[in-house]
Amino acid sequence: MSQFDLIVIGAGPGGYVCAIRAAQLGMKVAIVERRAAAGKPRLGGTCLNVGCIPSKALLDSSERFHEAGHGLAAHGIAVSGVALDVPLMMKRKDTVVGQLVDGIGGLMKKNKIEVLTGDGKVVAPGKVEVAGTVHEAKHIVLAMGSTPIELPFLKVDGQTIVTSDHAIAFDRVPKHLVVVGGGVIGLELGQVWARLGAKVTVVEFLPQVCPFLDPDLAKELTRALGKLGIEFLLETKVEGVTVADGQATLSAKAKDGSPVSISGDKVLVAVGRRPVVDAWVEAAGIALTDRKRVKVDHHFATSVPGIFAIGDLIDGPMLAHKAEEEGVALAEILAGQKPVIDHSTIPNVVYTHPEVATVGLTETEAAKQGRKVRVGRFRFLANGRAKAAADTDGFVKIIADATTDRVLGGAIIGPRASDLLAEITTTMVYGGSSEDIARTCHSHPTFSEAVKEAALDTLGRVLHS
Ligand code: FAD
Ligand code: NAD
Repeated sequence: MSQFDLIVIGAGPGGYVCAIRAAQLGMKVAIVERRAAAGKPRLGGTCLNVGCIPSKALLDSSERFHEAGHGLAAHGIAVSGVALDVPLMMKRKDTVVGQLVDGIGGLMKKNKIEVLTGDGKVVAPGKVEVAGTVHEAKHIVLAMGSTPIELPFLKVDGQTIVTSDHAIAFDRVPKHLVVVGGGVIGLELGQVWARLGAKVTVVEFLPQVCPFLDPDLAKELTRALGKLGIEFLLETKVEGVTVADGQATLSAKAKDGSPVSISGDKVLVAVGRRPVVDAWVEAAGIALTDRKRVKVDHHFATSVPGIFAIGDLIDGPMLAHKAEEEGVALAEILAGQKPVIDHSTIPNVVYTHPEVATVGLTETEAAKQGRKVRVGRFRFLANGRAKAAADTDGFVKIIADATTDRVLGGAIIGPRASDLLAEITTTMVYGGSSEDIARTCHSHPTFSEAVKEAALDTLGRVLHS
């Protein structure tokens, strides 16, 4: 039996970052991971292995393929013979993932964190069993993450009915990919395969895609993805499926109750993710919320003393950077520090093209709260750099308090939205105003001038539209 200050169960972005920060603060740390290949642990969790990184690698590859075939003629560049090698594209993605996974292994070594490979479970307070051996720790952090939700009437078989785990690894382009769920995964992976030549239909039971977005952003995104040929069936509820000869036929109902039938050779079920709560969690007396996430207080403490939880396992958005922030904060709390996470400044990005990036209060939430706000907007169509790049879909929106001008939220749909959003997030973290952004000199010609113009618009002083 070995004795640690901290044992972390789960080596995703929440768990491994928590382990590193704890080691930096002088703790003796072990991390348990059950995902393994060829006898070696695969560190990095969902994010590195089957989530953020592989999906972004494919988004980048498919964007280049599509651009080569469709986007260069207007620039006076003629390209012929553009051909697709899906196995090679997948190999590149796997190499990127492999390098990053190995990199986490290097970080564990550097920080003298012991990696325990196998299924970890809490068998008693302060005791974690891994592969038949019990290890002791003063503190235990649960960071077991999440896994795709399956629908009872849409059984995943890994061949025709698949989850994102499979859709990042198809060996050929589907003829018709039907995506159930118009959320982040559905749109990102839907766009990957649409760019590579699949017909893609997204079935969403709500009136808009990505329900967390203001309707104007969702509409703009739907319109832009529609230009690529992606078809959207909104307010349509999938109710069943039949599979025969590698072809799935979904039965669904439209808003007016009329039956809808959609057939495809692949069906991607992307209706959300659920926390990984194996039987031992409740057996250890750890309380869950109504939504079956691990219940924690403001210091990530579960209902059992000495056991903490972070990341996708607990409430809040299921995002890698949210898990990381929580991992750092928790390690600091365990070391006696008093860190604070401001959940209102955690950004959220959809990595489609155009990208969508949001932070803070939405216009819809402001209206619901009866909060008096001023909203500034600026379209990329009027931005010189966007024009030069022929990348003019979308707009920037800034939401500021009507009295104090403090920036309460921001949303960008358009080129480089994920990077441009950082300025709005930083302004919010510093308690800044739209006047602060408007008075900051932005280089010309840059996409970032659209952020400045949106800030000017909240003040009624927009210059270029
Ligand atoms: P996870 O990353 O899920 O890690 C948990 C780890 O715990 C896993 O490795 C698991 O094997 C291990 N584990 C579970 N139980 C045990 C046990 N009993 N013993 C040992 N090990 C165990 N987020 C973003 O912010 N940006 C993105 O671009 C993004 N893209 C995504 C794309 C896809 C396709 C998917 C599926 C997700 C994406 N996410 C993205 C979400 C992101 O991956 C998660 O929010 C993040 O990984 C959560 O981190 P975590 O540490 O809480 O859990
Ligand atoms: P999601 O919650 O983003 O979207 C699920 C969608 O499915 C919703 O729009 C919902 O209304 C719809 N839906 C649910 N049941 C349905 C049904 N029966 N028929 C039709 N539509 C239905 O979930 P996701 O796309 O699976 O992603 C899971 C999580 O992973 C998200 O919480 C997200 O935070 C995370 N993720 C993040 C990123 C990113 O940050 N770029 C990328 C991928 C995943």
